[in-house]
Amino acid sequence: MPAQVINGKEIVSAYRAQIKEEVGALTQQGIQPGLAVVLVGEDPASQVYVRNKAKACEEAGIYSEVHTLDGATAESDVLSLIEQLNQNPKIHGILVQSPLPKHISEEKIVEAIAVHKDADCFHPVNVGNLMIGKEGPAPCTPAGVISILKKIGVDIAGKHAVVIGRSNIVGKPMAILLLRENATVTVCHSRTANMAEITRQADILIAAVGKPKMVKREHVKPGAIVIDVGINRLDTGKLAGDVDFDDVLDVASYITPVPGCVGPMTITVLLRNTLEAAKRAAALQSAT
Ligand code: NDP
Repeated sequence: MPAQVINGKEIVSAYRAQIKEEVGALTQQGIQPGLAVVLVGEDPASQVYVRNKAKACEEAGIYSEVHTLDGATAESDVLSLIEQLNQNPKIHGILVQSPLPKHISEEKIVEAIAVHKDADCFHPVNVGNLMIGKEGPAPCTPAGVISILKKIGVDIAGKHAVVIGRSNIVGKPMAILLLRENATVTVCHSRTANMAEITRQADILIAAVGKPKMVKREHVKPGAIVIDVGINRLDTGKLAGDVDFDDVLDVASYITPVPGCVGPMTITVLLRNTLEAAKRAAALQSAT
C-alpha cells in the first residue's frame, strides 16, 4: 500500500487559524505582534522566502516590516539596523534571512539580535536554553516537524528517530527536540559509514541534507514515517526534496511532499514565535 502523503496545507491552515485568533485577541488588548525581516542582497530564493513570510504575517494579522538592503551594505549598517529594531516596541521578532553576503559575519549579526526578539532560535543563548530544556523561541523547522508528527498522531516516545544532517539550524536542534519527546535519536552526516544500514532502523526518518532525491527506498524501513526537510532547486526549475518521493512512496507509511509541508510549517512556527514574544512583552508591560 502506498504511503499516506501528509496533507501539509490542511495541517498548516489549522495551526495558522489558531495563531490568527490569538493575534486578534492580543491586538485588541493594544499589542499587535510585529516581525521584522532583514534581507541583504538579491538572492532569488531568499526573496521568495521573505515574501512568503511577509504574506503569512499579513494573513495572520501580524504587523511585518521587510528591510531590503543592497548586497554591498556594510556590516556596521546591518548591525545599526538590528539595534534600531531591538529598540522598536512595535517589533517583537527579528529574523535576518540567510545566506548573508560573505563580507558580513552571520555570527555577529545573530548575536546582535536581542535574545527576547530572536524569532528563529539562532542566538547562542536561546540555543543553550533549548539544549537544557529552558523556555525560549522554538527552532522553526525542527519544531514544525514535531508539530507535523503530532498532528498525524505519532507517539514519538520510544521510537527510533534518525536525522540525516547535523546543521545548526535543522539537524542538531531536530535531534534535541526529538530527544525531548523521548525518541531514541541517531544523527547521520556526510562522514557516516553505511548510512542505509542505520536509516533502515528508523521508525521516523528525517532528511535535512540539501541533496535532491538522495534518500532512496533502500534507506527506508517498511512502514517508516519519512519527513523531508530538503528544498532543492533542480535544473528544470522545479523544487525537489532530499527524498526520492516516487521511489520511497510504497515503502513508507507516511511521507511529506516537497514543496508544501515542512516549508510552510516552518513559517507557521515563525508566526507562533512572534506571537509568543509579543505575549511576553505584553505580560512585562502589564507587570510594570
Ligand atoms: P546544511 O548544508 O547546513 O547541512 C547539511 C547536512 O547534511 C550536513 O550536516 C552534512 O553533513 C549533511 N550531508 C551532506 N551530504 C551528506 C551525505 N551524502 N550523506 C549524509 N549527510 C550528508 O543544510 P541545512 O541543514 O541548512 O538544510 C538542509 C536542507 O533543508 C536543504 O535542502 C535546505 O534547503 C532545507 N531547509 C529547508 C527548510 C524548510 O523550511 N523546509 C529550512 C531550512 C533548510 P556534514 O555536517 O558532515 O557536512
